[in-house]
Formats: sequence, structure tokens, C-alpha cells
Amino acid sequence: MKDKLIIASNNAGKIREIREIMEDYGKEIISQKEAGIDLDVEENGTTFEENALIKCRAIHKLTGAMVLADDSGLEIDYLNKEPGVYSARYLGHDTPYEVKNQIILDRLKDAKGEERSTRYVCAMAVIMPDGREFCALGTVEGLIAEKPSGNGGFGYDPIFFVPEYGKTMAELTPDEKNAISHRGRALRAVRKLVDEA
Ligand code: IMP
Repeated sequence: MKDKLIIASNNAGKIREIREIMEDYGKEIISQKEAGIDLDVEENGTTFEENALIKCRAIHKLTGAMVLADDSGLEIDYLNKEPGVYSARYLGHDTPYEVKNQIILDRLKDAKGEERSTRYVCAMAVIMPDGREFCALGTVEGLIAEKPSGNGGFGYDPIFFVPEYGKTMAELTPDEKNAISHRGRALRAVRKLVDEA
């Protein structure tokens, strides 16, 4: 186990994207589930960074391996930066995203143009086998779309409009999303910290 890189997450969308970006790292990458760990870590921090480190530490304690954890979410300015750190739990953990996205669109029905500004935020934490900890933040700015479009990505991607591309995150290819996403940016930044340490 100690020679592997474990992703401390049960979210299939996140795991897929982290694998895509880290495939050239030179370590075998396995998910928490593939490591045989059935643990739902309580995310009781108040910031993305705290929650990412909480998840990392829990899995590192059990395995002694290099562990990577992402804590991320969507901040919608019109909704006072909700859902933020509560993005996974927002409107119910098991509510389908088609339903959650439609509720958000309804809540923003009177918001026009720049009033629809939003961002994804991601804190990416790494713990090395020797216990050293690293964390970096990545963000991507966008607008809440007028309607959902696209089938790529996951979660809120069909309503996250990326002005530079004139498309939603769910309409981008995986490479396009990884190149600009909060997760891609945070992961490349934390990888640089690890490489330079
Ligand atoms: P957590 O980091 O596990 O607490 O949850 C992050 C939540 O933020 C996800 O379950 C999604 O609701 C949302 N989220 C984070 N990153 C993305 C993304 O890249 N696309 C869509 N939704 C995201």
C-alpha cells in the first residue's frame, strides 16, 4: 500500500478527473474504495483547505501511503456564495443533480448578466508517506447558465457556463475541462509544491 497514491474520495467524477491529470506521476493511483477503505470522513471544517486536509489525514492514518484529497464546491454570488463548502449536501445529498440544477436556475430567475457570476473552488491536499502536508487552491470563474446543457463532467457542470469557450463545463471535452478547471489548477499547483519540496 505504501508505494501507491490513494485518492481520498468516493466521488466517481472527482476520481476520474484526478486520475486523468495525475496519470504521468509515476505511482499507481488507486481510489479509497480500491484500497479497501470503507470510510465516510466527516467534513467538519469550515474551509475547503481544512476539509481537504481532514480527508487526507484520515486515510493516511489508516494506510501510511501518499494520499491526495480534494474538497471543492460552487460559489454563486447571487446566493451569497452558497452552496460553497456544502455543495455536495446542498438541497439533499441524494437529490439528483438535474433537480438541484433546476432549483438553482429557478432561484436565479431574476438575475441578469454579471449578476449570475459564480466560481468553482478546489482545495487539493497531499500527505506524503513521511507525513509532510501540502495544500493548494484552484478556482475557475463562470456564470450560471440560463438552462442546463451538455452531458460531460458531473454535478453542477451543465449549469456552469464558461465565457471563454461559450459553453458549459458539461459541454467541454475532458482535456478542455482539466486545462481550466479549479481541480486541474489546484492539482498542478500542489504537484509543483511536492516536486519542489
Ligand atoms: P466534496 O468536496 O466532496 O465536499 O463535494 C464537492 C461537491 O462540489 C461535489 O459533490 C459537487 O456537488 C460540487 N463540485 C465540485 N467540483 C465540481 C465539478 O468539477 N463539477 C461539478 N460539481 C462540482
